[in-house]
Amino acid sequence: MPTRILVSEVGPRDGLQSIRSIMPLEAKCAWISAEAAAGVREIEVGSFVRPDLLPQLADTAAVVRHARTIPDLTVAVLVPNLKGAQLAVEAGAHKITLPLSASETHSLKNLRRTHAQVLDEVCSIATMLRELPAESRPHFEGGISTAFGCTIEGDVPERTIVELAEKLMHAGCDEVGLADTSGYANPAQVKRLVKAVRAAVGETALNGLHLHNTRGLGLANVLAGLDVGITTFDSSLGGLGGCPFAPGASGNVVTEDLVFMLEAMGLDTGIDLERLLQVRGILLNALPQEPMYGFVPEAGLPLGFTPASRRT
Ligand code: ZN
Repeated sequence: MPTRILVSEVGPRDGLQSIRSIMPLEAKCAWISAEAAAGVREIEVGSFVRPDLLPQLADTAAVVRHARTIPDLTVAVLVPNLKGAQLAVEAGAHKITLPLSASETHSLKNLRRTHAQVLDEVCSIATMLRELPAESRPHFEGGISTAFGCTIEGDVPERTIVELAEKLMHAGCDEVGLADTSGYANPAQVKRLVKAVRAAVGETALNGLHLHNTRGLGLANVLAGLDVGITTFDSSLGGLGGCPFAPGASGNVVTEDLVFMLEAMGLDTGIDLERLLQVRGILLNALPQEPMYGFVPEAGLPLGFTPASRRT
């Protein structure tokens, strides 16, 4: 099992895009700064989508510019297409993720594109990135969403995921990630799919999982990922955003609970959990009407809790 784990906070993108409320720019910046100060090393701060489609993320360029002033923080963004990737480069993002839905029906509904059209877009982005000087070229990830099942198609064959991962790498991605958009994944499936994809694209081309806790298996699935060598896990502070398909259920794995599990197991995240728990106050103030999730924020840390970094 790896001993150093990257927790990638996706709340400012994934969480905020799933709620109606629009968080003011100052609150977003305060949130990102506070998480970075607690030791979070990678944050997905927004998405370069058309502002009329997602007004919640219309200020992404300004958020990126703020996040870029924070030392040692990897500033990640989501981009749906070449135009978005160009804006991400202009703003100075360190990492861009282009989502590709494994379910073609889901892809047509959400991105209004077939797999072939998305892969063409990946090629155009990769070509654009290759022409940039190395120091301003962001890391390019292809994120396979609905990888563990789809709310429209149901089962998505593992062969489909493996083939899409290969195609994304051939089209010019630096790495691929797997996302349990629907919250359908189970631990045995996580292990099987990670192994199958890594066998096809190589050990180093799949490092990250984006897991949801919709059916209560979020952390069990993280553990399964750890068992097969995954080192990056996405999560959202307070589980912000919930699950659009299951009102009352959390969507993203809760960052506070994830960091607690990893640190309690002796896996170093570099995150100061006590400081992280305080960041929740920024969300509660800025979005008082939105539900927050998580067990550790409610129960508090166990007596005598020692984080991984303070053990010998
Ligand atoms: Zn998510």
